[in-house]
Amino acid sequence: MRHTIPPRSGAAFTLERGQRLTVIDPEGEQVADLLAFSRSDIDEVISSGRSLDYASRIFLTTGDALYSNRSNVMLRIVEDTVGRHDFLLTPCSADTFRILYDDAEPHRGCFGNLAHALAPYGIGPDRIPVAFNVFMNVAVDGDTGALAVRPPLSRAGDRIVFEAETDLIIGLTACSAPQSNNFAFKPIEYEISS
Ligand SMILES: [Zn+2]
Repeated sequence: MRHTIPPRSGAAFTLERGQRLTVIDPEGEQVADLLAFSRSDIDEVISSGRSLDYASRIFLTTGDALYSNRSNVMLRIVEDTVGRHDFLLTPCSADTFRILYDDAEPHRGCFGNLAHALAPYGIGPDRIPVAFNVFMNVAVDGDTGALAVRPPLSRAGDRIVFEAETDLIIGLTACSAPQSNNFAFKPIEYEISS
């Protein structure tokens, strides 16, 4: 069954060990922020730092693992038709739009959408870490470390598939940041299969 996350919104759901989560970009150039928490202990959470450390790379793709803060593999990427995602930047938020976009009445962004969706699981906003930013295209200058947010490389129908290596609570958004999505807000779709 395919689920749709409307533009600039988010969802949360559980994933059992061994199940696969497919995240689809139905229209192209749309980012989805992904969070994972252990269902047995929400203090165990997806860790950008550990995942990048153990991969020794900042761009993760098929075969790579997303580790927790306790160095357990939470998810593994088993298929990826795009090959470019970001794991450096925090979920966009009202503060992002205030600081980077100078918005007078900022949207709550992925951060607010994730906090809202995860609240029924007892996960508060201060527990939200750096998300795995599916399809987000952040270019890094190898000499200076300068970051540039570019339009996603994903085209309509592109997908990434994760396999859960433990029981998880997942947060997932259709990202709300103009620059990340080439200035057009689109939906994200996902499927869960056993
Ligand atoms: Zn976002």
